[in-house]
Amino acid sequence: MDHLLLIRYGEIGLKGKNRHLFEDQLMRNVRAALGERLPGRVRRAYGRVFVELDDPSHTQPALERLQKVFGIVAVSPAIRVPLTVEAVEEAAVELVRRQGLAGPRTFRVQARRPNKAFPLTSQEINERIGALLLRTFPQLKVDLHHPELVVAIEVREQGAYLYSDQVPGPGGLPVGVSSHALLLLSGGIDSPVAGWMAMKRGIRLDAIHFHSPPFTSERSLDKVKDLTRVLAAWGGPMRLHVVRFTEIQKELRRHAPAELMITLMRRFMLRIAVAVAKDVGALALVTGESVGQVASQTLENMSVINAVTNMPILRPLVGFDKQEIVERAQAIGTYPISIRPYEDCCTIFVPEHPATRPQLAEVEAAEGALDVEALVREAMASVETFSISEAQVDAMQA
Ligand code: ATP
Ligand code: MG
Repeated sequence: MDHLLLIRYGEIGLKGKNRHLFEDQLMRNVRAALGERLPGRVRRAYGRVFVELDDPSHTQPALERLQKVFGIVAVSPAIRVPLTVEAVEEAAVELVRRQGLAGPRTFRVQARRPNKAFPLTSQEINERIGALLLRTFPQLKVDLHHPELVVAIEVREQGAYLYSDQVPGPGGLPVGVSSHALLLLSGGIDSPVAGWMAMKRGIRLDAIHFHSPPFTSERSLDKVKDLTRVLAAWGGPMRLHVVRFTEIQKELRRHAPAELMITLMRRFMLRIAVAVAKDVGALALVTGESVGQVASQTLENMSVINAVTNMPILRPLVGFDKQEIVERAQAIGTYPISIRPYEDCCTIFVPEHPATRPQLAEVEAAEGALDVEALVREAMASVETFSISEAQVDAMQA
């Protein structure tokens, strides 16, 4: 009797070459998620991925890890046995016994037999195993429609697989199948959720953060590193690029109309983010913007800000209410970090009455008083990059 984890993934729309890319990436990500702490073999067969853990006592922690691997729809602990009726019977009893005394009262057997060489049909398996379980566990009753326990049996070429419980995965696509983007990560609630949503569509992320020392503290930077670490638990190790934004903000305060401050700051952030994205080979930016939340998120403002680049900007939260974003942040695990009360580079310099409908011409005129290119170049020279995994943060050489 081999103990393994059976991974189900979304198959809709996966055909031909895409299907192979998807599966290869999923297997790499599963291996990476289990890492050295939970060693085992990861293999694929007939549209499923299987993990055979070296140590079956790792099942629970492995299940927990796999619940964070995008692309996985569900995971079940399973038993694989040789293709004999006796072995299947023994495994079915073992599967129910594992449920414990406080376990289910009603059950149903659900057999499938793609391997027609097996001596019993699926209906015969259902009946035979059902009768055996009724004899062995007197507390059990059959309920075909709403059973508490489904004993699933799949008879394949390599053996018979039996499983019952399944835990849900996050769904989506394996990170890495959809190329690479750069997440604008503030310390707020929204942008980490936006990054999670992008990863869920298979996008590998780098993150960029703007800070303004000494107006923003080391602790506000730690907060962003902690947020990155939570994202890395879902999508694998990530690089965080930290940009010093102080000089630009000072320059804007000196030379630009206060009510355009936010719009101008955002345009600078975007220019720098585009430059970093090109450096790291990212094809798009991701932000936590949604429409109408704050002054800088009117469509008028967004279009003036967006005018500095034609790089695609993904805004996965655009249709979410704040409450939906908060709930998602709690489920992801970023919420408690996001609400730590440290200052943010943008809140420090915000004017009392930001323009909600700035005109592109007036914004460009205000920038005429600045050496935009030099400011961007200077900010680019300040970039510090950290390599962040779930467990740790490492400074990287530039
Ligand atoms: P968040 O909760 O993500 O901070 P927000 O609701 O506060 O978003 P804004 O302040 O308008 O909204 O910021 C919009 C987006 O701009 C953020 O979601 C983020 O993607 C990006 N952004 C804002 N500040 C920073 C920063 N200091 N560094 C990097 N990106 C930032
Ligand atoms: Mg914010």
